[in-house]
Amino acid sequence: MGKTVCAVLLAAGGSTRMGADENGRPINKMLIDLCGRTPIEHCVLRFSAFADEIVIAASRSTEQAALKAAKLVSVPVKVIMGGSLRQDSVLNGIRNTGCDIVAIHDCARCAVGGDVILRAIESAKLFGSGVPAVKVTDTLRRESDGETVDRTGLVRMQTPQCFDRERLLKAYENAPEVTDDAAIWRNEYGPVRLTRGSIENEKLTEAEDVEFFRKLCCNTDNGPAIERGYDNMRLRIGIGEDTHRLTEGRDLILGGVKIPFRLGLLGHSDADALVHAIMDALLGAAALGDIGRYFSDKDPRYEGISSLILLERVMEMLKDKDAEVVNVDAVITAQEPKLAPFIDKMRKTIADAIGVGIDSVGLKATTPEHLGPEGNLECITVRAVACIGLNR
Ligand code: MG
Repeated sequence: MGKTVCAVLLAAGGSTRMGADENGRPINKMLIDLCGRTPIEHCVLRFSAFADEIVIAASRSTEQAALKAAKLVSVPVKVIMGGSLRQDSVLNGIRNTGCDIVAIHDCARCAVGGDVILRAIESAKLFGSGVPAVKVTDTLRRESDGETVDRTGLVRMQTPQCFDRERLLKAYENAPEVTDDAAIWRNEYGPVRLTRGSIENEKLTEAEDVEFFRKLCCNTDNGPAIERGYDNMRLRIGIGEDTHRLTEGRDLILGGVKIPFRLGLLGHSDADALVHAIMDALLGAAALGDIGRYFSDKDPRYEGISSLILLERVMEMLKDKDAEVVNVDAVITAQEPKLAPFIDKMRKTIADAIGVGIDSVGLKATTPEHLGPEGNLECITVRAVACIGLNR
């Protein structure tokens, strides 16, 4: 059997460098909204993909947020009161777990990537310890005299710091004056094993950092849907297909992008077959029927309308179902024109419309070898699939 992993997430520290809100109350960084979720929630979601058990060390002011985060995932989450010092919280956290490998993480590193977590855990499984670190690349100078400090061999340590739990506990018992877990481990067993960290795995520290972290956390690659391991979601897929006739005197619009061509697509709206196929795939994934049910081609309100507006309505319907898009993929079958130069622009437009990163939008164009109605330039056909996650 593989080794079990537990995560100890530290959310008890004071936010001494965050400053105060407009009413003069100190800001607790653990409660800041970063793309719809608190740092604690981001961390719980990210670790739920790797841990069999999670313990959050909270303070009185973060306890409620921790309890709320605990509900997001199906792995067991315990919320405990942290101590006044980091190491008290850690020790208390470790004692509240019963796994083989413990991953200790500062919730202020709320944009930590799954790859960073995985490398550190795997290292701890193999060698007893694994701590992500990044090389120091900036020139370092002493503030007092401006003297350059040699940065050769220097690294910046990040978290999660991962260890064999039994051995770490033993080291704690023998620890004199403790600083961090890596130091405790080192006293007992020698240097910790370093794994590759990431510049995205920085620590939310000052008020000026908030915008930067908001962007990081909103980026889908680090965002909720991808990193949670779908643990708290029911995944659903859907399929969509649409064909529109090619005709003279119409614009050719695909994926919200106007493509220069002598023919355009005929339809009641802007006849954006790509957006229509994606809408149908999304609706299909949520078992909500098809676009004809919501947007009749007899309805004058939709005459000439941009299909992106209709897609927006579909997104509202998904939101009402508490669903979010994981990814979409589509194939355009068109003899002409050459679509390659427009693919990325279409992907970006669609990604923005459905609230995912461009990496979550696949799009290909294929030419049908002059076969069939698409090959004869009578029409363009698009097929799309979509994956959505329904929050539990
Ligand atoms: Mg259509």
